[in-house]
Amino acid sequence: MFVITGPSGVGKGTLIRELLARVPELRLSVSATTRAPRQGERDGLDYHFLTAEDFERRVRAGEFLEHATYSGNRYGTLRSELERTTGGGAPAVLEIEVQGARQVRAAMPDAVAVFIAPPSREALRARLVGRGTDTPEQIDARLGTAARELAAQAEFAHVVVNDRLEDAVDELVSIVRGAGERRACAGMAAPASNLEGQTEPAEERP
Ligand code: ADP
Ligand code: 5GP
Repeated sequence: MFVITGPSGVGKGTLIRELLARVPELRLSVSATTRAPRQGERDGLDYHFLTAEDFERRVRAGEFLEHATYSGNRYGTLRSELERTTGGGAPAVLEIEVQGARQVRAAMPDAVAVFIAPPSREALRARLVGRGTDTPEQIDARLGTAARELAAQAEFAHVVVNDRLEDAVDELVSIVRGAGERRACAGMAAPASNLEGQTEPAEERP
């Protein structure tokens, strides 16, 4: 499993779109949130949009692998969604903020976590403004959180600076493929081996 984390507006969604195009075996896990849908966002595709009550009920029922409050809204990865995503043996990609990434690291130490960093704070602000999805107040709140998130980047095994998009995509692809190769060498399960282009089932290997 791959966890892509980093501050809002750094380009996680953009990079993951490119990554999925380059490594089509990967499957993106759809998160749950209490945030209101943005224009064009579809329930079940961009997020599972839940009421605060439903989200809390699921927290209490232990339905989340990880969850966090971010800028006044709740976000989380449902275990059922992750099972659905990886059901066919596909490696999953999670796009989550830093508190959730820490929880996944604790629960699943084999997960490969990649922190996406901006080339500068000014670039991060410019991307949030340019995206046009947040009010000036929301942008300030996200930048405040970003300062804390950027301080946490040393906790992550991989850090990719998203300066020139093509370079960052290349780096991300090579981290993902490298993890697949390392696991195949260690005789581990099929999902990661899919990433290095082998087609034979894992159980046929020594
Ligand atoms: P996140 O998912 O981390 O919140 P997005 O993928 O939505 O971030 O990207 C935020 C904005 O930054 C988008 O408008 C996107 O087009 C732009 N962006 C992403 N990567 C780059 C880059 N390398 N250079 C310039 N702009 C970028
Ligand atoms: P946005 O409101 O911009 O869609 O997301 C806000 C932040 O929440 C982003 O940093 C995004 O990566 C993060 N996020 C999205 N889904 C999840 C999730 O399932 N769990 C956690 N912990 N964070 C998430």
